[in-house]
Amino acid sequence: MGMKVEQVLHMVGGAGETSYATNSRVQEKAIFEAKPIVEEALREVYKTALPESMVVADLGCSSGPNTFHVVFEAIDIVDDQSRRLGRPPPEILFFLNDLPGNDFNSIFQSLEVHEEKLKEEKQEWIPPFYVVGVPGSFYGRLFPSRSVHFFHSSYCLMWLSQVPPGVESNTGVPLNKENIYISETSPPTVVESYQEQYRRDFTTFLKSRFQELGFGGRMVLSFLGRTNKYAPSGELSQLWGLLAEALNAMVLEGILQKEKVDAFNLPFYAPSMEEVRAVIQSVGLFDLDQVEIFKSNWDPFDDSSDDRIYDNIISGENVAKSIRAVIEPVIARSFGEHILDDLFSRYAKNVARHLLEEKTKHPVFVIALKTKV
Ligand code: SAH
Repeated sequence: MGMKVEQVLHMVGGAGETSYATNSRVQEKAIFEAKPIVEEALREVYKTALPESMVVADLGCSSGPNTFHVVFEAIDIVDDQSRRLGRPPPEILFFLNDLPGNDFNSIFQSLEVHEEKLKEEKQEWIPPFYVVGVPGSFYGRLFPSRSVHFFHSSYCLMWLSQVPPGVESNTGVPLNKENIYISETSPPTVVESYQEQYRRDFTTFLKSRFQELGFGGRMVLSFLGRTNKYAPSGELSQLWGLLAEALNAMVLEGILQKEKVDAFNLPFYAPSMEEVRAVIQSVGLFDLDQVEIFKSNWDPFDDSSDDRIYDNIISGENVAKSIRAVIEPVIARSFGEHILDDLFSRYAKNVARHLLEEKTKHPVFVIALKTKV
């Protein structure tokens, strides 16, 4: 009970076939989609603070190409803005944060290669920058007071700090049986417990970041949300429901123990925009500067914007790979590594079947916040 996310969550490390680095195209799309918002916010921060050295932190940086997209994008924007304003070129300090289980080593091992590539591409001078790894949970303080100019976080804030305690009764009886996330069959107390955990976590996040931001500080946060007001029928309930279905099928075949599946729940919550706004308002420390919602296809390699599914079997496999790169360590910890191939091949089939019925998409929320003065 109360499974702490630090102990279980990390994306699959390294650069192999099942790694996050190889399977993070859905998340990459969110980074590109949020770019204009990041650009505007960073330019504003620079204009307000006119710092000699600019401090940028990426929260939940993971490891792989996306980590570097964020770093190099910020260098480009800050460099350009300093030129436009006729200022001396700034130095940039990057804090890359993630949970301690993250593959920080592979970030630092490939940093130089990525830096060389960037220099070649740009064929010009780039500002000096320094990269520091910061292991720890962003649901709490990570940096000294007023030490950061700009926070960025992409595809992270739907992860809670823990599985909400209300998924089981006071005596430890599982209440969200056969589900791994909230669904139409979850008891209302379970749904409320998820919502309460989200409010508490996002509140802690905002308060911590406020302390750490200097005057004129801003943040851009992208995360999965839901468009349906009613929490149990959100898009993510469908995605995780199909994984629960695969786990339950393995219970019926005697491969997994029913007690284990009944007790398993994800430390995850996709909020509605109303819920996001309500927390920001009740915390009262930030103004919501910009809001964008875009829909991203479940299949990372489907770049179409219509409702057609081109090959549901292939799409099912692509979705299963991208979800596996994220969730494998959590599943393996509860059920063992030996079930992974079987589970995700069932999941791929369930997703393929679902996509024929409906091309559900991920709603991605991008919000820009600035500190209230
Ligand atoms: N920003 C990257 C990674 C997204 S995956 C990208 O856009 O590709 C989500 C990341 O959030 C994971 O690496 C996970 O370990 C991290 N994460 C989840 N909860 C966190 C927490 N409480 N504190 C810090 N990092 C967290």
